[in-house]
Amino acid sequence: MALVNVVIKGSNFPYELSGPYMFKSGKKAGQSVEALMFADHGYLVYLKNIADKNMASGSLPNRLHLHLAWVMRAGEFIKSSEECPYCSYDGERKKVEMFSVRYSYGGCSYGHRFTCCNEDECKYRVLEEKSKLFPLKFSSLAYFSNAEQKRLGAFFKDLFLGSGRLDTKKAFELFSSANPL
Ligand SMILES: [Zn+2]
Repeated sequence: MALVNVVIKGSNFPYELSGPYMFKSGKKAGQSVEALMFADHGYLVYLKNIADKNMASGSLPNRLHLHLAWVMRAGEFIKSSEECPYCSYDGERKKVEMFSVRYSYGGCSYGHRFTCCNEDECKYRVLEEKSKLFPLKFSSLAYFSNAEQKRLGAFFKDLFLGSGRLDTKKAFELFSSANPL
């Protein structure tokens, strides 16, 4: 259990972080916020926006609101342990921090081969014609359609948690490991 500071609409709130948040009712009953960060990020953004909008000044946010604010901020700081495929020098390769998306015929494509670290040299190598680089952060999803966000979420899951089934406990540990400055 850890006490974390959560910022909502410019105010600070202490939040006792005790584990993943599970939805008990509604259309996501039985699913966790942690897993939905990857599987349906747009839905969480929608819930958070409604909670922000409905929060009267001076009132306290509920646990879901606090958890959403915490996990979304943590999602901006978590690190992938995947290595940059473009680091060419000997020694330790840097970790992946960017992904490149290539646009063609109204669709877009991306993949492990088109990820890189934050060094200019690697970014230069990964970029192709008609492609754009994005930071490997959940806020980058906002640039894509809802359907594409779900595909990208699965890609993020592989980059942050490895291949295989999405595990809520591992996802929670990942977000808990984030170190916002
Ligand atoms: Zn690199």
